[in-house]
Order: sequence, then C-alpha cells, then structure tokens
Amino acid sequence: MLCYLSAPLLSASESLNRLQKTELFPNHTESAYFCTMKERVLSGVRSTGNLHLGNYFGALKNFIQMQDQYECYFFIANLHALTTHPEPEMLKRSVKAVLTEYIACGLDPEKSAIYVQSDVPEISELYTLLNMVAYKGELEKCTSFKEKIKKHAENINAGLLTYPVLMAADILIHRAHKVPVGKDQEQHLEMARNFAVRFNHKYGVDFFPEPFAFDMSGQLIKVPGLDGSGKMGKSESEGNAIFLREDADAIRKKVMRAKTDSGPTQPNQEKPVEISNLFTLMQLVSAPETIAFFDDAYNNCSIRYGDLKKQLAEDIIAFTTPLKEKILELENNPKQLQEIAEYGAEKARKSARQTLGAVHDIMGLTSIWK
Ligand code: AMP
Repeated sequence: MLCYLSAPLLSASESLNRLQKTELFPNHTESAYFCTMKERVLSGVRSTGNLHLGNYFGALKNFIQMQDQYECYFFIANLHALTTHPEPEMLKRSVKAVLTEYIACGLDPEKSAIYVQSDVPEISELYTLLNMVAYKGELEKCTSFKEKIKKHAENINAGLLTYPVLMAADILIHRAHKVPVGKDQEQHLEMARNFAVRFNHKYGVDFFPEPFAFDMSGQLIKVPGLDGSGKMGKSESEGNAIFLREDADAIRKKVMRAKTDSGPTQPNQEKPVEISNLFTLMQLVSAPETIAFFDDAYNNCSIRYGDLKKQLAEDIIAFTTPLKEKILELENNPKQLQEIAEYGAEKARKSARQTLGAVHDIMGLTSIWK
C-alpha cells in the first residue's frame, strides 16, 4: 500500500486542476483516490477491435463489480496490440472503441483510473527493468507464445516473446494484488508472480505484492466461441464471436450458424463440446428456467437445436441491446471520452511514478553522485 512507498508524493498537475474544474468530475479531490488502504486491482483489454461477450463476462463484469470495493486501474492495452503491427489509424480507432465500450458497460471514471497504456510511459520503463529478471527459457515455454508462433510463423517478434513481461509491468506498476481476467490469462499471472518474487528476492526487499488472477464468482471463466473450437476471441474464425455492439440480425445469423450435431440418441447422454458450448452461453444470458427447460429436453432426447438457438439469440440480444444503445450514444461525444482518458492517465501516472521512483531507489538508479 502507499504507506511504504519510498518515492515522495508528486503535486497535482495542471491538467488535473483543469479537469477538476469541468462538470465531468465534480467529486475529484487530489488525495481522495490515492490515499486509500484498499486492495489494488488492475486489468485491461487489448485494443484489437470491439469487445465481445468473452471480454464482458471474463473481464468487464468483474471490473464493474469491483469498482466500489477496491482501488481500481483499468486500461486499454494499445502497446500489447502492437505485436501484430496494426495500421496506426486502425489502432487509434480501436482504442476509442474499447474506451467507449468500457464506459458503456459501466466503468466509472470517478471511481476507477481508466487510461490508455501508452499514456503512462512509466509502464514501458518498468517493462525494461523487469526484462532483467525474466529469462528467455521461461518466456519461450509460455503457452500463448507457442500458440502464436504456430499461428503467425512469419511474425515471431521479441514483443511477442516478452508479452508476459509487459503484462507484469502493467500490473506491478500499481503494485496490484488482484487481476480480474479470464481463464486464458492464468499462466501470464503466474509469470507476473515469478517476476515479482524474483525481483524482491534479488534486491532483498518486500516491495512487489504477488498478483493473482481473480473472478468475483471464485472461478476464472472461459466463454466459448460459436464455431465449436474453443474460446470466443476477436481474432478467431469469422462468426466465432458476438460483439456487444452487434445488430440483432447479425447476432441471430451467427447463433443460427453455430455448429451442432444430429442430436442425442440416448437419455442423459453427455453433451458434445459444441452443444455444451451453447449451454455455457445460455448460462451467461438466459433465465434459469430456460436453461432447465432445454437441459431436460436434451436429456430426454426431445430437444430441437433450432429452438435452442433461437432462444439463445433472443437472450443475447436482450442482454446486449442496452449496452449497444449506450455505446452509440457515447460515440457522439468524443470530447467526453478524451477527458475521461486524460483524467484516467493523470491518476494512473501518479501511482506509476511512485512505484517507479521506489524501483529506481531499490535498483541503484538514483542518487548516483551522493
Ligand atoms: P483480450 O481481448 O485478449 O485483450 O482479453 C481481454 C480480457 O478479456 C482478458 O482478461 C481475457 O482473459 C478476457 N477474455 C477474452 N476472451 C475471453 C473468453 N473467451 N472468455 C473469458 N475471458 C475472455
């Protein structure tokens, strides 16, 4: 917590003062946010496109629930998005899209620090410093790196290899304890813990806390995609993901095209993965009676997959429609989004500067001539 940081508190910047005077953040006070003894939470989403149901249920839902209880930092990971070399204008559009969707889903700039990763350059410096305690062998063994090099053999860059180090820097720059993420991020969190512990051990300090992946339900989740292959993701096959801002007709089409089989032939038969995926999606958006109805129909072999899909599509539409309406409304107010990002960056930089100042002291990068 803040009490044992060795770097001095920095004074408020002019831009914070300017923002404080706007109507957008009437409750802002310089000290209110940063002198809490609350546990710290950090998480983010890459700016690689619009948010989908996997992002919402794996990450965003937790972000929203955690805002009152914890000191929260939520960012848009545009540096992480660079590994695939996006076209610059496209990258900027994606950053705006993720910010818009964060706010539409209920992230509150008064309660949390909401910022763009590249607006906090201290993260990049901590990334450089943490690279000294990350070993090539462990990075090469990381599952996501192995998957990526299989998928994109023509683009195995060092950024991909050191992705977990940048992620550790994202977390450790705020010395966060809890990291609300989906199941796919579990190994990255384990690596962040290793780097934190190794740093503490090497320098004989108890500075970085060990961060843990977290879900309010007590269990990390994986939202399946519609193609029957695995998780819902932005870069998976066409039709695999349902986006929060998607039109009702597009959602219906995608769900109706989801893979199924020829149906159960025996009572209480185990569900094959494509069918079990549809039930998993239902559990996120449908009423318990609806799920029970289709579950019974599957178990007594009377199920009609067409009916199941129609119901699932309508329940998804009922869930996403209010979010989509808010997204469209916010898109018409880019000035408000800009102010939110600037305000969030100031809050995040303040915490980041404190951590980095202390890391400089610990590593012998300050007071060289004394
Ligand atoms: P990404 O879009 O890969 O940057 O992921 C942002 C956040 O969404 C991370 O916390 C992921 O764990 C989470 N996430 C992405 N896809 C899924 C999914 N299919 N199921 C659960 N969580 C997910």
